[in-house]
Amino acid sequence: MTEKGPIMHDDISGVRLSGRPHAGDGPRYEVVEPATGRPIGHVATGTGRDAARAVDVAAAALEEWRTTSVPRRGAVLRAIAGRLRAASGLAETVARETGKCRREASAELALAADYFDWYAGLAHTLTDQVLSVRPGLRHHVRTGPIGVAAVLTPWNFPVSIPARKIAPALAAGCAVVFKPSELSLLASLAFAELCESELPEGLLNTVAGDGPEITGAWLDDRRVRLLHFTGSTAVGRSIARAAGAALTPVVMELGGRAPFIVLPDADLDDAADTLMVAKFRNNGASCIAANNVWVHEEVRAEFLNRLAGRISALVPGDPLDERTTLGPVRTHEMAARLEGLIAALDSAGARVHWGRRAEASGWYVPPALVVDPATDGPEWREEVFGPVALVRSFTDLKEPIADASTTAHGLAGYICTGDAAAGAKLLARLDVGIGGVNVATPATPEIPFGGRGDSGIGYEGGLPGLLPFLTHQSTAVPHP
Ligand code: NAD
Repeated sequence: MTEKGPIMHDDISGVRLSGRPHAGDGPRYEVVEPATGRPIGHVATGTGRDAARAVDVAAAALEEWRTTSVPRRGAVLRAIAGRLRAASGLAETVARETGKCRREASAELALAADYFDWYAGLAHTLTDQVLSVRPGLRHHVRTGPIGVAAVLTPWNFPVSIPARKIAPALAAGCAVVFKPSELSLLASLAFAELCESELPEGLLNTVAGDGPEITGAWLDDRRVRLLHFTGSTAVGRSIARAAGAALTPVVMELGGRAPFIVLPDADLDDAADTLMVAKFRNNGASCIAANNVWVHEEVRAEFLNRLAGRISALVPGDPLDERTTLGPVRTHEMAARLEGLIAALDSAGARVHWGRRAEASGWYVPPALVVDPATDGPEWREEVFGPVALVRSFTDLKEPIADASTTAHGLAGYICTGDAAAGAKLLARLDVGIGGVNVATPATPEIPFGGRGDSGIGYEGGLPGLLPFLTHQSTAVPHP
């Protein structure tokens, strides 16, 4: 076990403007470590007034950055990527604050670095256009940054999710105002500081604090030209409503409810391994986590056997301990919700197989396999977001496909099969934005990632992830 002091970060400023900490006017927030349930830091948060100041600073910095050469912008982004790859202290903070295992925290930082590298390269493809499409006229299309972009993020990936918004924003020539989650303040603030150490002053300004107050201040300011949000569907919907009234464009990356379908020709060891990653990665707190598992009746018994064995082998414990393969959930309330979900399914007739219980006092939920849960309750229809696998069987594929559309979520889907081409065809029938055939982690910076319906609006990653940060001005000039 790693030795820990009680308080790791005291009196951290939750407001960072022009590359420096500022005294925020908001309440002091206590950061509690999920592995112990004890405080590890305090953050002084900001208010709407701080949020307004952040826009002033960003708008001032924007003028120089938008005209900074693309190679220079790319070099800054690559330097941030380099720092992220070397930031082992930040990986430890991510693990302690979120509860994810240390190696997952390091992988998150590596992924964040890949986003900065990818968008550094993509910035070189931004070109103006000249079109001759009407006799006597020439059209010039000038492409530039949309302006100040507001970035709001959740707790479960406190570095890589901000990175996949902030990297394309900076590559496009935008300046950023950033509000991290109150459940990942230490990690997200340390990430912001790391970025600032390479960025020209004022391009990234961070204000931690009350979501509605800070978002409201940004939506009231006409200089904020884009609101880029990741979080739950309920919060996203309320923000999108306010943004609609303000006519501020949004990108919304919201909750998921991914089906995971095991076909009878699948290699069952591979399928069980794939599910273990798709379900239990990040302690089950991933928007693309396998949520509703369907196994074909013919292979049900063998698959469940393999899965139960793997769940029993998970080692819950301190995220900093190298032997740990499952950490705690983020808050006491989340643990209570998950225990309640399992109890409700159990009393409705499902069979529950428990994994090991952690020998620690933090917010641990033992990993669980719930077989044959009822499909008519919220436990099956809503996002689980924790280390609990819900598995049903089917004989006709129509059943899992129809079930996937009983809510309007459409983020991710998975198929396990011996016939990859058939799996890809089946995946195309699911109304989701991203999927894997025998693959548990389909997302990578080079491809677009975005949900449909209640799972969101727009994309991150790939070229589509850059486009919301751009604006175009078209000018017609006489041309003989
Ligand atoms: P959340 O919606 O509770 O919070 C997200 C952010 O919104 C936080 O910064 C929070 O402070 C802020 N916020 C909360 N209420 C607000 C309000 N009324 N007005 C303005 N801001 C407000 O989400 P969470 O619990 O941090 O994250 C988990 C959720 O995020 C899950 O549903 C998960 O699926 C989703 N998620 C989606 C993706 C994706 O890419 N689609 C990625 C990660 C997480």
